[in-house]
Amino acid sequence: MLREVHYTNNRTKHFEFETANGSRFDFRPGQYISLDFNVDGEKVARAYSVASSPHHDNRFDLCLNIVLGGHVSPSVFDLKPGDKIQFRGPFGQFVLREPPDPVTAFIATGTGIAPLRSMVQYLFQKPSPSEVWLIFGVREEADILYRDEFEQLAREHPNFHFVPTLSRPGADWKGHTGYVQKQIAAYLRGKQGFHAYVCGLKKMVNDVRQQLRHMGYSAKDLSCEKYD
Ligand SMILES: Cc1cc2nc3c(=O)[nH]c(=O)nc-3n(C[C@H](O)[C@H](O)[C@H](O)COP(=O)(O)OP(=O)(O)OC[C@H]3O[C@@H](n4cnc5c(N)ncnc54)[C@H](O)[C@@H]3O)c2cc1C
Repeated sequence: MLREVHYTNNRTKHFEFETANGSRFDFRPGQYISLDFNVDGEKVARAYSVASSPHHDNRFDLCLNIVLGGHVSPSVFDLKPGDKIQFRGPFGQFVLREPPDPVTAFIATGTGIAPLRSMVQYLFQKPSPSEVWLIFGVREEADILYRDEFEQLAREHPNFHFVPTLSRPGADWKGHTGYVQKQIAAYLRGKQGFHAYVCGLKKMVNDVRQQLRHMGYSAKDLSCEKYD
């Protein structure tokens, strides 16, 4: 059942669900669920990454972009608190490695932040010895999802480096600009004990994977999740 929902920017909403019968929902940080919707009498399933860390209770968050003209995301967008959905899961191998690597890089664009928010929350539930980078690419400042949370985490933990980067910055923006690739080149060279988690649409994921390989990292240093 949907408990709460709010816009995080004009195309994206944050959803908080709980299982209807109160049963515990266990998942690993980074996994996704499959939402089942009826579209014109046909059952259509879509994957959505869990955007919260496991609480070991019956609650979980999602973070969704509306794809205009899409089959399912507009219906999810219309959900109101109290509405019920059918889902299956958890699924997926895009999960935080245990123990976490000494240098952990999270790289996302748009709603690709969802599984990485789950992993970041989980990592910092207790003091983390890892050097952690979150490189997050969006178009405009208003698109920086969960900005307050990540900025607060960066203030509290000197080993957490939050690098939002804008491809269409406004005149007032003083932070990083350009695609995530530019920040990867600037911050992630020559790290030992490195693992990167990359999530978003396939063009970005493929480009980032190729770039990290050119920088000397091997395929086993990378975990990727593609949304399309
Ligand atoms: C493992 C996995 C996890 C996912 N997790 C999330 C998530 O946490 N949040 C989320 O918003 N989406 C997520 N997606 C994408 C989601 O499953 C759907 O593809 C998306 O909501 C579009 O579905 P639709 O039926 O509305 O569009 P469709 O009618 O299926 O149209 C698909 C079109 O949407 C594009 N598309 C797919 N995902 C996105 C997106 N996020 N932003 C912009 N365009 C997109 C595709 O390129 C394609 O052109 C995930 C996908 C996978 C495979």
